[in-house]
Amino acid sequence: MTIQKALVINGSAPYYNLGARKLADWLASQDYEVQYADGDPGLFGYGYDLVGISVIFSWHAPLARTLALRWKSSSEIWCGGPGMFTLANWWRRETGLEIVRGLDARFDRQRGSYKMCFASRGCPVGCYFCLVPKLEGLTQSFDPDFLPAPILCDNNLSALPADYQDYIIARYQAFEVPLRDANSGFEPRTFDEGCYRRWKSILKGPWRFALDEMRELPDVERMMQILKAEPASKKRVYCLVGNEPMALCYERAMKIIEWGGEPYCQYIMPLNYLGGPLKTRYDWTEQLGRDFCRYFNRFTWRYAPLIEYLPRKAEPAPFAGQRFFYQ
Ligand code: SF4
Repeated sequence: MTIQKALVINGSAPYYNLGARKLADWLASQDYEVQYADGDPGLFGYGYDLVGISVIFSWHAPLARTLALRWKSSSEIWCGGPGMFTLANWWRRETGLEIVRGLDARFDRQRGSYKMCFASRGCPVGCYFCLVPKLEGLTQSFDPDFLPAPILCDNNLSALPADYQDYIIARYQAFEVPLRDANSGFEPRTFDEGCYRRWKSILKGPWRFALDEMRELPDVERMMQILKAEPASKKRVYCLVGNEPMALCYERAMKIIEWGGEPYCQYIMPLNYLGGPLKTRYDWTEQLGRDFCRYFNRFTWRYAPLIEYLPRKAEPAPFAGQRFFYQ
């Protein structure tokens, strides 16, 4: 019998790519001889029957395209991952191939020794700027046989039924695996005292949640009240930027600080973003978006107001003269 050779490439290196690692383990279980590469392996990519490329972020798709065009005449090419989900037409046009779209049932529940895991998939909230409901569904699904790993990636833990949250926690305790981070975290509208007490027993990392739109202010304020005993460094609050006028994004970021948390600002990007100039809305420019995020994410807010922020010595302060509602 001829052994089939497969090469699995993490197209989003240096980020840890759970999907690529599961694919490699699953192919090995299917009797492939498997090599794994973080990024473009260059000349070492030749001579495989199958090349599997996993892309986490859409702006890494151009690298996957380069690799596919290089090897498609000599290898079967599979390309998938969340970064490819909205790019099926682009991929077909550029490479003449089909993407592997969505969660791949062949190996999504592959068991192994990984840094990350999912105990559930999906999120019922359906934010328009988020890939999760499109990729994983609006109805949460459960994987009760998941193997606990230090980073739990479930997209909305607080929306899970309380008994399934308890089940996840009990499984971490039974396997004696420390929960270092719940990296997608909790959703303010479903977070309550019970949820706090439950996860407090095992969560070693920060409480992660989001204040992405002004309409979420009341829920986030309530969640901040529940978390008031936690230090600011343990309340990491994602704050989407560029999706509302600048004064409103500023107000959200400052409310997070006022309520005892630390904002982590992210400029909005289309789900099929391939790189290059971003479309901007309201009073934003791409440069203002970058400066705004840098100001908050580097904690400059501790030392100077935004209107005095001077990221480039040779240029005037980019936010001087802006009218912000929040005082
Ligand atoms: S709550 Fe979070 S995971 Fe759910 S749709 Fe909104 S951004 Fe995505």
